[in-house]
Amino acid sequence: MGKNGSGIIAGPFTLRSKDRAFRRLFAEATKRPPAGTPKITTVRSALLSGRLTKTMVGLTKYSRVRYLFFSRPRQSITFFLPLLSALSEPAVMAVIAHELAHAWLNEHVKPEESSQREHEADDLAREWGFGPELDALDKEAETVNAD
Ligand SMILES: [Zn+2]
Repeated sequence: MGKNGSGIIAGPFTLRSKDRAFRRLFAEATKRPPAGTPKITTVRSALLSGRLTKTMVGLTKYSRVRYLFFSRPRQSITFFLPLLSALSEPAVMAVIAHELAHAWLNEHVKPEESSQREHEADDLAREWGFGPELDALDKEAETVNAD
């Protein structure tokens, strides 16, 4: 994935993953949202981490980077390989779509941590055309969360 982003992610952006299949799925997912969808500009990096978590497959973090007189929003997305690797490709795609939806909502609606936001992220990912993938994830991962 180029330094200028891909699909819904506008650069500068770096995907830190050596896993080819994951890189392909990520690139594919960024291209799925309908043309004209406002881009995500605050995500600078996404990381595929080898860290083992109990139930978490993905996490989007929103923060504000402070400069002298102003601050800018910044987001990062982390995916956790140990649990992701147990999922099918459609289910992994659903996890990626869910995290992209979080990032989009944080940037274009407002940053918010709430249980409601989990449903909003899934609803938005469905609007973007990820319905079958989200259904696959639901079937495979009753105990796995995409936060
Ligand atoms: Zn979530």
